[in-house]
Amino acid sequence: MHNALLQLNDLSVHYGGIQAVRNISLSLREGEHGTLIGANGAGKSSTVRAIAGLQPYSGDILWRGASIKGLRPEALLQRGIVLVPEGRGIFSRMTVLENLQMGAWLRRDAARVRAEIAALCARFPRLGERQNQLAGLLSGGEQQLLALARAMLSQPQLLILDEPSMGLAPIMVEKIFEVIGSLRATGITTLLIEQNARLALEVTDRAWVMESGTLSCEGRSAELLTDDRIQQIYLGEL
Ligand code: ATP
Repeated sequence: MHNALLQLNDLSVHYGGIQAVRNISLSLREGEHGTLIGANGAGKSSTVRAIAGLQPYSGDILWRGASIKGLRPEALLQRGIVLVPEGRGIFSRMTVLENLQMGAWLRRDAARVRAEIAALCARFPRLGERQNQLAGLLSGGEQQLLALARAMLSQPQLLILDEPSMGLAPIMVEKIFEVIGSLRATGITTLLIEQNARLALEVTDRAWVMESGTLSCEGRSAELLTDDRIQQIYLGEL
């Protein structure tokens, strides 16, 4: 596709004899917000782990038109491909501040990093107040906020969020989605995996539905929200 920031061409992921992802192709333009929805085990995490360099695959992944196949996660991070994994990947025995600093480990502009950390602590007072506490002591929702803030410090061009609302109380889900929604104004391209398909479709432009490792449907998120079949299967409506 023309002008694609990210393009998956016939991507497949195997675990031994199990094929978790089967020849999927999709592309995301710069500034676009996409979501992969689908049941547990459909292959969503395997797909985004492949994009982030955490999972071997066959087929190809292009970034700004050039193959990134075989690149290490650090090299992909340097290009701005940032994954907030399922379970958040917080360093629980480090402080909140140290976790934030880890987000900027590839950066050389220390003064700017400090200013951005101060701004994030002001924006998310729960993190600011707890800067010097161990991250493992934060609530699940606060840890997810920390994971998002840490990801922002790594200056993502593509921010991939794997199940950010997993296990959170409704009030925190609302807060996390408010933050995800606010990313729209930043120009960062996002790819969201989310069990809560309604929320995911509400905050994104384009959606792909995964079933048993394949893409069964794709379209504009707003249109999928009103699609009868999607409503029945993924939105719990009759
Ligand atoms: P979930 O929401 O449950 O994470 P998902 O759509 O993200 O689901 P994947 O986690 O990508 O799906 O899993 C796809 C398939 O691959 C599943 O059948 C899963 O059991 C299998 N799978 C995932 N990781 C591994 C692994 N490390 N080893 C073997 N099989 C795996």
